[in-house]
Amino acid sequence: MTSRFAVLGAGLMGRLMALSLKRLGYRVDLYDQGGPDGASSAAYAAAAMLSPLAESLDAEPLVVALGQASLRLWPEIIKTLPAPVFFQQEGTLVLWHPQDRDQAVQFDERLSRGQKTGMFDEPHRTLSAVEIETLEPHLGKRFSRALWLPREGQLDNRMLLKALYSGLLEAGVEIHWETAMTPAAVTADWVIDCRGLGSKADWIQIRGVRGEVLRVHSTEVTLTRPIRLLHPRYPLYIAPKPEGHYVVGATQIETEDTSPTSVRSALELLSALYSIHPAFGEARVLEMVSQCRPALPHHLPEIRWAGGRVIEINGLYRHGYLVAPAVLEAGLDLIKRLLDAPIGADWQNQQPWSPIYHLKEAA
Ligand SMILES: Cc1cc2nc3c(=O)[nH]c(=O)nc-3n(C[C@H](O)[C@H](O)[C@H](O)COP(=O)(O)OP(=O)(O)OC[C@H]3O[C@@H](n4cnc5c(N)ncnc54)[C@H](O)[C@@H]3O)c2cc1C
Repeated sequence: MTSRFAVLGAGLMGRLMALSLKRLGYRVDLYDQGGPDGASSAAYAAAAMLSPLAESLDAEPLVVALGQASLRLWPEIIKTLPAPVFFQQEGTLVLWHPQDRDQAVQFDERLSRGQKTGMFDEPHRTLSAVEIETLEPHLGKRFSRALWLPREGQLDNRMLLKALYSGLLEAGVEIHWETAMTPAAVTADWVIDCRGLGSKADWIQIRGVRGEVLRVHSTEVTLTRPIRLLHPRYPLYIAPKPEGHYVVGATQIETEDTSPTSVRSALELLSALYSIHPAFGEARVLEMVSQCRPALPHHLPEIRWAGGRVIEINGLYRHGYLVAPAVLEAGLDLIKRLLDAPIGADWQNQQPWSPIYHLKEAA
């Protein structure tokens, strides 16, 4: 008989997983405590930058490897969806103000070290003022140097969530909105727990890391690719989305508070935007969003299976979009191995299986 799956959480990972399982021919129920727009998920707030090299400054090599693999997988996933999703792979421009020059030197050295160890599949480059202007004419010669990460990308998170929702409806997944669920309460052969921060009661190491982003609209400045601005406190970026929208983010604060954006954060994010180009002063602030990223202590994603019918996928932290396709593949591979295993097999002892090992295989 066809296995019946319950996927808990319809944020980024849950939507991808439910759709993939349904397309593989299983019966799938998807539960979320919120509604179809995904506003209760970290996925809704995110800038959806796909920047493995830029993230390598703070992230583990595994995240970089999963990110590079995922950059190749996203176009394949998007192609199968019934609605358009803005996806771009035009690189990232890393900029800094003169007072933050030392950070640029360190960043450059870190990237060069990564390059030597074969960690990156494409080298970064230093650009002159003329080269910066050629890439982004609206910046003119405001910056004398930049670092250029040519293969990085981004997508539009809200378009993706919508397109995945259409895909789920089209495929016939049974979706239960406004339904908070726990693995113990759900009846299914298998439970895939993708509740992000909502899994805290079952996975105590999960914590939330607050992030705030702004969405602005500008008719006066045109940037065509994401810009990272080196900053002493947290990585700041400006990600241009379709129709003159820009996502400016993101703060990173060790708290699970999801109350509205603070004045301090708004000031810092808007100052960063204004410092890139004063014409952003006339942009309109459309939205200020705050959400928590689901994180594990090692800041790596994990797929956890303890021998029962529940598989947990969590810890996507600030890299959910960056790594999701590769994590999805690893999760599907684990599910396949479990379904193919002979009944009663002492599965854990048959293989040197560990979540990280499993994800390393995917990368
Ligand atoms: C401000 C911000 C900026 C970010 N920027 C980026 C970026 O540029 N690039 C990048 O790669 N990543 C970014 N991220 C990270 C990315 O958004 C997350 O890693 C990703 O969304 C995690 O996916 P998830 O599916 O595990 O969790 P979520 O997307 O949070 O989804 C979890 C879902 O579970 C549901 N849920 C919770 N409890 C229950 C329950 N009991 N029953 C049913 N449903 C439940 C929630 O409603 C939610 O829909 C950012 C995150 C934030 C907050």
